[in-house]
Amino acid sequence: MLCGARTRAGTPCRRPKLPGRSRCRNHGGLSTGPKSPEVLELLRQRLLTLNRTPEARARLAARNRSPEARERQRARMLAYWAARRAEKARQAEPSV
Ligand SMILES: [Zn+2]
Repeated sequence: MLCGARTRAGTPCRRPKLPGRSRCRNHGGLSTGPKSPEVLELLRQRLLTLNRTPEARARLAARNRSPEARERQRARMLAYWAARRAEKARQAEPSV
């Protein structure tokens, strides 16, 4: 896999990722991550807002656990995709 970081020229980096990392040596692949408590706390807060912590995941899972909730979600998604299809079909029609 490629590093994919943005170079100073604005193009994606083409060097391979370091094994087990997501970036090449030039783009922080050797970094072992933030260490200062301030930054770690900042990242924790950000993960919370993204619902990415184990606690947040558990909260979301609990909310969706009931079959009724799942069915409501399914109906919402089906309606969404039907609306999208309708909109696409409308746009595909030649305008008179
Ligand atoms: Zn790179």
